[in-house]
Amino acid sequence: MSALITHRSIEAICQLPQVPELRLPTRSSRGFGLRVPLGDSLARRACVSWGSHARTDRGRRSVSYSLSRRQEPGVLVLAGQQQEAQRVLDEFREACATPLEKLEKVVDSMVLEMEAGLAAEDGCLLKMLPSFVENLPKGTERGIYYALDLGGTNFRVLRAVFGGPGEGCMQESEIFTIPHDLMVGESDDLFDFIASKLRDFVLRETENKSPPPGRKRELGFTFSFPVMQTSVASGTLIHWSKGFKVAGTVGRDVVEVLREAISRQNLDMEVAALVNDTVGTLAGGRYINGDVMIAVILGTGTNACYVERAEAVPKWKGPPPKSGIHVINTEWGNFGSPTLPTTFADDDLDRESVNPSEHIFEKMMSGMYLGDLVRRVMLRLAKDAGYFGDSIPEKLTKKLALTTPDISKMHADDSPTLEVVGEILKKKLDLDPTRLEERRVVYSIIDIIARRGARLAAAAIVAVLRKIGRDGKSGNGTSKTVIAMDGGLYEHYTKFRDYLNEAFVDLLGEEAAKNVVIELSKDGSGIGAALLAACHSKYGSQ
Ligand code: ADP
Ligand code: MG
Repeated sequence: MSALITHRSIEAICQLPQVPELRLPTRSSRGFGLRVPLGDSLARRACVSWGSHARTDRGRRSVSYSLSRRQEPGVLVLAGQQQEAQRVLDEFREACATPLEKLEKVVDSMVLEMEAGLAAEDGCLLKMLPSFVENLPKGTERGIYYALDLGGTNFRVLRAVFGGPGEGCMQESEIFTIPHDLMVGESDDLFDFIASKLRDFVLRETENKSPPPGRKRELGFTFSFPVMQTSVASGTLIHWSKGFKVAGTVGRDVVEVLREAISRQNLDMEVAALVNDTVGTLAGGRYINGDVMIAVILGTGTNACYVERAEAVPKWKGPPPKSGIHVINTEWGNFGSPTLPTTFADDDLDRESVNPSEHIFEKMMSGMYLGDLVRRVMLRLAKDAGYFGDSIPEKLTKKLALTTPDISKMHADDSPTLEVVGEILKKKLDLDPTRLEERRVVYSIIDIIARRGARLAAAAIVAVLRKIGRDGKSGNGTSKTVIAMDGGLYEHYTKFRDYLNEAFVDLLGEEAAKNVVIELSKDGSGIGAALLAACHSKYGSQ
């Protein structure tokens, strides 16, 4: 008796051990013969792992194996690749685990780092940068203001018309993608590109939108990289992040760099406020809701800012702010701690990044990196368990071959055979065909990585709430706190958002969580920057 099998039928044996015919081989008292197509190395490898003897058939189209009758069906394939794959997956899952006790430790260590960053200027992981913004919008602002939002893959130019109390605002904007060579090129080239788009945008406006005679247009500049702010409209770039590495900007006042580029375009515009995107989001959120105390970005990168009591910032050497508050830009993307559940994939990603050892937290949970973490674990499976083909697939070795939007689409696949996963693996990594078992493993990796990222994001938000005594455990449980959230990751990645909300309630407890609301504030940073330009206009905000 002899039967032709392929790796697909082996897969069937594993998944459907209850089908009697497929169990037949091992039930036979006389042993059993299997033929495997010559080119099907997966099936051949499985047969070898079953301890059988091989013989090439006449005509050389297949290889025959005779199996020992002592084999058990479940042992067959699992003995080979799958067992190894399971081992890699189990170890990875274990290393990424974020049980509540572990998340609590992350919260504690982050609160300590926040305090250290507020106390000292240098040597802290969390820079805790005062934003020089004392006056947050009240909803009464009036006039036409512009914003320029440079934060990652895209930048946006925006015009906002604020109508005064109760009148709301109107806005128009355009989005441009930054060409990759400008992200790693020279400072003047990047800023000339930005200023030229701003000029084109302004040139297209109609007369009734231009400023009154004698008055310059005013701009809020949202610049979402670590900046040491020196006033509300000046600040020095500390370092680039999120894949940017532009020569000649670090150490300079980015407002001055932008002003020079604007004047090279012969554009008559004043930069009235330099704003981090978190601060812009906070301002945009406050315009609508006075309970907004924290703004969080979960997009290409991640960061948060919050409203801190002035006396809680010992490193502040300037005059005490009249408002009694500072808006602090945490730069939490640079958080790092032995409490973080890191893995080989994080270490590899960090080592090969443009900023090794920096922004470790961001590299575990933001849109720029999640897809690439998944690819790295898949690569480990290809190397260690012979998954995804007989040789290591070329694309699987390429950085960023798999993006976060790719994994979020795969994560949403609820078909029993994971068709969408298969399509994306084919389209993005040239993996075709894939076995169901391989697609299942990819799905598990995505789930592990997204869940870990989302839970860490929740822990970070809770750390800020705890720092300002609004986590419901510090005696201020009844006042309402709103978190303005912006970023494509939170907005579009449903499972990530669900995991984040779940961990948030886990950490705060049901009762306290009722007083803390996360509100999506889509693109609030642009409008927020225009508002802060209004709040800090040299003409007054009318
Ligand atoms: P930025 O952070 O550059 O200002 P966004 O807030 O728009 O821009 O976020 C863009 C990021 O959001 C992308 O880099 C991507 O990682 C992530 N993202 C966008 N769409 C999706 C999606 N469908 N699923 C998951 N992540 C997404
Ligand atoms: Mg953004």
